[in-house]
Amino acid sequence: MNTCLRVLRVFFIAALQFCIFSAETSFSQTDPIRLSDGTIIQCSIPQKTFAVSATSIKAWIEANACAIRSFYGRFPVKKLQLILRPVANSNEISYGQAMPGNTPQITIYVGTNAPMSEFKDSWVLAHEMTHLGFPTLERNYHWLEEGMATYVEPIARVKTGLLPELDFWEEFYEKAPSAFQIDSKANTGLNGVRDFRRVYWGGAVFCLLADIEIRQKTNGKHSFQSALKHIFERHGSFNEDRDALEILRSADKFLGFQVLEPLFVKMGSTSFEPNLEKLWSDLGIAQKGNTIEFKNEAPLAHIRQAICSPKTSACSVFFEKK
Ligand SMILES: [Zn+2]
Repeated sequence: MNTCLRVLRVFFIAALQFCIFSAETSFSQTDPIRLSDGTIIQCSIPQKTFAVSATSIKAWIEANACAIRSFYGRFPVKKLQLILRPVANSNEISYGQAMPGNTPQITIYVGTNAPMSEFKDSWVLAHEMTHLGFPTLERNYHWLEEGMATYVEPIARVKTGLLPELDFWEEFYEKAPSAFQIDSKANTGLNGVRDFRRVYWGGAVFCLLADIEIRQKTNGKHSFQSALKHIFERHGSFNEDRDALEILRSADKFLGFQVLEPLFVKMGSTSFEPNLEKLWSDLGIAQKGNTIEFKNEAPLAHIRQAICSPKTSACSVFFEKK
């Protein structure tokens, strides 16, 4: 099971436990959502519970499924059960879980007062759907599963018109340092860590470093996305239990050089700490007041731009129809 939180979100969980409606809430089975690739998403929407209409909720589901389908080349599973759990007196979509099975299941905790803007801005559903395209690893390597989803979800949304590119880099710039702000003597790598900042953002930094190296060594022919698509096609969805080293070696073989395995070993089981200040500078990301700005003359600016390219509005149109 992947239980997904991010920085700050965790503080809402204690309150959530008291606010979630009882299991007796009546759910209605709506017509299945059929994606253009034949995927069926069965969604249970509690009747007259949310501030937005069932039609708008369907648009949100379709838009996020569209982004994940676009990233992996196809939606990772043929059939999905999606359950929306209402959270009373909340205007947030704050939490989600994905469970493997014959029909994989995603549960999203949705505030009953959540406005349409919260649905459009929320990362939670896309994050859970991202997990569907990556095999399940042993608990020790949870950081790789969550880091992958933390990195891929916003990129998939940026590339399909659901998230501004600046927002992706701004959050990364703000939160990634939290993964390494620990006593250096206590840093023995990411394997087995429980601190959610290290799990999510340490893992996301692994993905970014790997993405940069792959793009540099292949002159942009391949990317972290290429490697993930290979892993998905060769080793299966999150319904499959796989060995982390096995799938990373397989991806390295596909890419034609060693990148994922050595970086995984370095970040997983040594005290390696990336020089994030240099990384941002090289990528052309600089602080500007409370936000960031891009410096396109930076040596790796072209890679920063390529990570979120090409762009299309293919998935945002689901919202425009409503
Ligand atoms: Zn997750």
